[in-house]
Amino acid sequence: MKQILLKNGFIVTMAEGHETVYDGGSVLVEDGNIKAVGRIDPKTVAPDAEIMDLNGKYVLPGFVNTHVHTSQQISRGVGDDVDFVTWLHKRMWPFESSMTEEDSYISTLATCLEMIKTGVTSFAEPGGQFVSGMCRAVAKSGLRAKLAKSVMDCGEGLPAVWQRTMEEELEQQVLDLEKYHNTADGRVQVWFGLRTIFNNTDGLCVKTKELADKYGVGIHMHVAEAKEEKEYTYARWGEGTVQHLESLGILSPNLLAVHTVWLTDEEIALFKKRDVKVSHNPASAMRVLGFARIPKMLSEGICLSIGTDGASSSNHMDMVDEMWLTSLIHKGWRLDPTVVPSQDILRMATRWGARALLDDKLYGSLESGKKADLIVIDPQGPSMMPVNDKIAALVTAMHSENITCSMCDGKWLMKDRKILTLDEDAILAEGTARAAAIYKRAGIELPIRFPVVKISREKKLF
Ligand SMILES: [Zn+2]
Repeated sequence: MKQILLKNGFIVTMAEGHETVYDGGSVLVEDGNIKAVGRIDPKTVAPDAEIMDLNGKYVLPGFVNTHVHTSQQISRGVGDDVDFVTWLHKRMWPFESSMTEEDSYISTLATCLEMIKTGVTSFAEPGGQFVSGMCRAVAKSGLRAKLAKSVMDCGEGLPAVWQRTMEEELEQQVLDLEKYHNTADGRVQVWFGLRTIFNNTDGLCVKTKELADKYGVGIHMHVAEAKEEKEYTYARWGEGTVQHLESLGILSPNLLAVHTVWLTDEEIALFKKRDVKVSHNPASAMRVLGFARIPKMLSEGICLSIGTDGASSSNHMDMVDEMWLTSLIHKGWRLDPTVVPSQDILRMATRWGARALLDDKLYGSLESGKKADLIVIDPQGPSMMPVNDKIAALVTAMHSENITCSMCDGKWLMKDRKILTLDEDAILAEGTARAAAIYKRAGIELPIRFPVVKISREKKLF
């Protein structure tokens, strides 16, 4: 029996039904699970328990990032200041289609580094090409993940290597699922993916739903993402993406719909009726997609969560930044500073995120019997101190640098900002080298924004 006691902290439980905060409280972890929260009976603490005195630091459930493209991590910068079609056809598709399985592995490790440092303990990946590479990386990192393949069986301009039939795409996903689902002590799970309505036939959507139900897993899909998508679906079917998915029977509690920017009132009502889960990605939406109707969805009681999207579209794989953006952008476009309050944003980033991943029984809150997935926050420092409204400060003032420790499945992933499961320097060096090689292979040239003069070391005078 291995026990860890975190004592004398500000424990924000996010527990379903009461959301109690314990000031001066403790969390007792035993064999990967939370045994007790709040006031701990000393008799229940084993003499050989590891004890951490929090000295007033905060403890929160680990954040759940419900949409992050791990294969795009080493492409970072590839999409800066370009339009959507250029980004997709001239930058992102050439980059991702030039990646190897090992590139995907290293890129996923690099994403895991950033996620651990920014408080994430669980995430959902919508699809690189190599589920095997992603699985290896997640297993090593100590994080939890729902991994999916990027699935496309139609659409214009796809790289040759990605032109596949419905049968091929389904077969590959079933193979991945049977091989990798519930590996790494159950931390790694495999879901089905649907890329977008542009790249998925109706037949594929229907079969995917059947298989997801058969295996009891979720479906991860970009839905009503861009204005172009809305124009396309209305021209083709006379209805929006969500209405079309309803007509196919896809809308259901195991659908994780990402972005969901261009929804009508009727489509929001359909989400509510079918208990569809939503991943809100404010940074990438701000770049090119538009404003998702989060205040309306909140008032309708839809299960909302937060994602960072990929480094090629938002650069920051940082849930703390995404929470802060979520707290700002809706107030701005609604001209109403009371909408989307901090406590709702914390719910989105923790318990509701776990629910979106169909895991709310397992994690997302600090409660006895749940998995020990948690983070420690030290508010000390000029950017967060003084802390007056403690709960709001976690959204409006905290920076990811305030997150000092992270635990997943009862194991420490980071202590005092040092990652314990991965070699940070080696991964970043390898990721940098592989990124340069892929840019070259894919023939991607970035603009020269300022003239650069290279000065060699030998000739440098001082
Ligand atoms: Zn995405």
